[in-house]
Amino acid sequence: MSTPKTPDIETPSIEDRLYTNKYTDHEESHLGVFEEQTCLDCETYDCVSVCPANVWRDEGDGDVPFIAYENCLECGSCRWACPYDNVIWENPPNGTGMTYRYG
Ligand code: SF4
Ligand code: SF4
Repeated sequence: MSTPKTPDIETPSIEDRLYTNKYTDHEESHLGVFEEQTCLDCETYDCVSVCPANVWRDEGDGDVPFIAYENCLECGSCRWACPYDNVIWENPPNGTGMTYRYG
């Protein structure tokens, strides 16, 4: 097993920057879909391709994407990318969700 790479402070990559974020979980997803059937019929999976944090995951089983909400950066891209307006997107409750080390 390889040792995780120490984040590079001088020239941080996207992965380095993501490493510095902290998500406070309130144990309930703030993301979801309105109609599962819409996802089952979807051919674009734009929510998966647009998410910079690999929250929406096409597991290749033709099912609704898996949502790893704990990684969410709260950028809102998935909400706007879904061509069917099928994404439920709520702000995490106060005191939870993503905290950015560099604002
Ligand atoms: S893009 Fe919209 S409809 Fe398609 S899988 Fe994602 S949430 Fe479902
Ligand atoms: S809000 Fe941004 S980071 Fe969060 S799931 Fe949507 S696209 Fe991904």
